[in-house]
Amino acid sequence: MRATFLPFSPPLIGEEEINEVVDTLRSDWITTGPKVKRFEQEFAAYVGAPAALGLSSCTAALHTSLAALGVGAGDCVVTTPMTFVSSVHAVEHTGATPVLADVEPDTLNIDPRRVAEAIDAARARGLRVRALLPVHLYGHPCDMGALVDLAREYHLAVVEDAAHALPASFDGRRVGSFADRYGVPVLSCFSFYATKNLTTAEGGMLTGPAELIDEARVWSLHGMSRDAWNRYGERGSWFYEVVRPGFKYNLTDIQAALGLHQLRKLDAFQSRRREIVRRYSEAFAPLEELTLPAERAGAGHAWHLYVVRLNLERLRLTRDEFIEEMRARRVGTSVHFIPVHTHPYYRERYGFKPEDFPAAMSAFRRIVSLPLNPRMSDADADDVIEAVGDIVEKFRR
Ligand SMILES: *Cc1c(COP(=O)(O)O)cnc(C)c1O
Repeated sequence: MRATFLPFSPPLIGEEEINEVVDTLRSDWITTGPKVKRFEQEFAAYVGAPAALGLSSCTAALHTSLAALGVGAGDCVVTTPMTFVSSVHAVEHTGATPVLADVEPDTLNIDPRRVAEAIDAARARGLRVRALLPVHLYGHPCDMGALVDLAREYHLAVVEDAAHALPASFDGRRVGSFADRYGVPVLSCFSFYATKNLTTAEGGMLTGPAELIDEARVWSLHGMSRDAWNRYGERGSWFYEVVRPGFKYNLTDIQAALGLHQLRKLDAFQSRRREIVRRYSEAFAPLEELTLPAERAGAGHAWHLYVVRLNLERLRLTRDEFIEEMRARRVGTSVHFIPVHTHPYYRERYGFKPEDFPAAMSAFRRIVSLPLNPRMSDADADDVIEAVGDIVEKFRR
């Protein structure tokens, strides 16, 4: 048993990030400025996007995307119940109606067949379906081919929740690069929250077609026609005009200072994640009490989370008890996610019942996220493997 608790997802910040933050603090510009601009450019180049906009969070990116697309009251947006609640909140914030579609049983990503049914049902209720909001859950890309086909057929935009998907790819192309490629606008929303594959403590990035990113930029800073750095810089002017009832969602240079160096380290972080994934998957493959994470052929998995499913019919404990047993063995775990339709707000507002989305509910009772981050040593990974093996041994039917 471990001598110390293994935290689920601690950040990995080096001297480079620390020095860059200090450099920013000693400079005469600490909020949105030259470092955000550089981070946007380098991030766009990394994912292959035509344009990028730094924002205060992925939630802000989702909300800004929908605003830039003109989504509002009377509209609806189709998304998944198997996500962090902010994917659905972003729709709610615009005044539009979130419509949920159940997930595929292997990846737990939104199921394009259920999306097609949800579009038809929403249209039958007189709602204007405006956008699809797929979530690349755990870092495994959604079936974007089928989703953009639907978007084309129904003239919808696509807003990707790519919080887990840096760097994921579909059909050999990075998530974040789709933009205009499929004949429908695709906007991609990344998170740099403390636990994500790249962190700025809090932060996010929006990528997409250049003209939509320009519109999003206006929405993200009070609806002003030019940003503060342009106003206060040497060549700036005091004059601005407000052309939208915009938000206050800008990223700061302090955060971008972290992001610039995290981005340079991202490929190394990812190869460490894949080594741990390989170690887990080899060790767990013989255990019939577990279902291992899906990885479809050709999918570029970003491995943000390593989520196993307990085959409860083979075990004498529940998922919650499994988590307690892991904690007793000093290993931090988590659950991603509590299906959104079961939270009281959504349950009461839309009258959802748990069984409305059976694939999401059945997965929810069985999922456990194991620690997966580039700070882990081989010995840490082996401690996780030993704890899981020990519990399975003890509670096997
Ligand atoms: C973390 C997360 C978000 C929210 O990201 P923030 O940057 O904290 O706003 C949205 N969706 C998913 C799936 C997430 O995991």
